[in-house]
Amino acid sequence: MRPFDYRRAADPTEALSIAGAAPARYLGGGTNLVDLMRQNIEAPATLVDVSRLPGAVEDTPDGGLMIGAAVRNSVVAAHPAVRTRYPMLARAILAGGSAQIRNMATVGGNILQRTRCAYFYDVSGSRCNKREPGAGCDAIDGFNRYHALFGTSEHCIATHPSDMCVALAALDATVHLAGPAGARSVPLLDFHRLPGDHPEIETVLRPGELITAVELASSPAAANSRYRKVRDRSSYAFALISVAAGVEIAGGKIADVRIALGGVAPKPWRAAKAEEFLRGQAPTRARFLVAADLELAGAKSFGGNDFKIELAKRTIVAVLGEFTGADA
Ligand SMILES: Cc1cc2nc3c(=O)[nH]c(=O)nc-3n(C[C@H](O)[C@H](O)[C@H](O)COP(=O)(O)OP(=O)(O)OC[C@H]3O[C@@H](n4cnc5c(N)ncnc54)[C@H](O)[C@@H]3O)c2cc1C
Ligand code: SF4
Repeated sequence: MRPFDYRRAADPTEALSIAGAAPARYLGGGTNLVDLMRQNIEAPATLVDVSRLPGAVEDTPDGGLMIGAAVRNSVVAAHPAVRTRYPMLARAILAGGSAQIRNMATVGGNILQRTRCAYFYDVSGSRCNKREPGAGCDAIDGFNRYHALFGTSEHCIATHPSDMCVALAALDATVHLAGPAGARSVPLLDFHRLPGDHPEIETVLRPGELITAVELASSPAAANSRYRKVRDRSSYAFALISVAAGVEIAGGKIADVRIALGGVAPKPWRAAKAEEFLRGQAPTRARFLVAADLELAGAKSFGGNDFKIELAKRTIVAVLGEFTGADA
């Protein structure tokens, strides 16, 4: 056990002030960070507890929703506005972890949770560039059943594990930040970085920055949305593939469509090619198949995860079919 200081912040200003005075990490529910500390992957000198900062799920003037970073995952999933206006988000959160974990986990911590690559956690036995830059990556030629199909590099092929973030990506969520240099906002789709030459740098978060909230815009596609997670057992497992999708159909054509994939990339993956093909098309199974083929055409697998290409296509088609009965 390595000693560390624990401080609880009453508001964002105090959190920034404590974090600015010492090398610190913010603590949400601790469901990921504490595990990483126990396993000697992370060793912060100071923990600044931000899990009780003020924050709620609130309507925005333009009909969207503002969700405080400290709001617990279970509260977001159960909120009536989320369930009715953003059902894919409620379902994605409920597909993650267990009730106990969702009761502890915060929105900010969920966005910043780290990969579940087994080699990343195997501190004493495996090489991992994300844990130790320059060490090598044992997953590329190893057990890579859960690893990525898109956005990988020769240095890292890990996936981002969050279910919630897949829905946030499909919903074009905005992440609000406060930091030593002031406040700023980043689209969720730009928040996580691809590994490139530096898999240890996972987001665009600057030193000391705090996630304060996540904002969602309203849209008919957000309200008519689904989330499906395919995994090795029916609960308490991370995604092999997941699909968040929202569709607006007008006059028998797809007027708007949002699709994001989980379990396929180091960040939540927006299926832009599939979306582009589908806009303006009639919602048929044949067109869903073309869209899925187009999206997966750029996939690169690593042996153990070859099956995920076909699984991703089938899951996309199945989820889109749910909106129209086209999979019947
Ligand atoms: C057994 C198990 C199974 C799980 N299964 C799933 C699953 O199926 N799907 C899924 O999506 N997730 C799953 N999870 C992960 C879980 O969702 C995350 O651990 C959780 O969302 C992290 O939230 P937290 O508040 O506990 O974060 P913490 O562990 O407190 O923090 C995580 C990271 O976020 C940072 N942080 C926290 N809040 C802020 C903030 N406001 N601003 C800046 N930085 C911040 C911390 O410094 C840390 O780096 C599982 C976890 C466990 C332990
Ligand atoms: S895939 Fe990434 S996280 Fe996993 S061992 Fe390789 S470098 Fe580490």
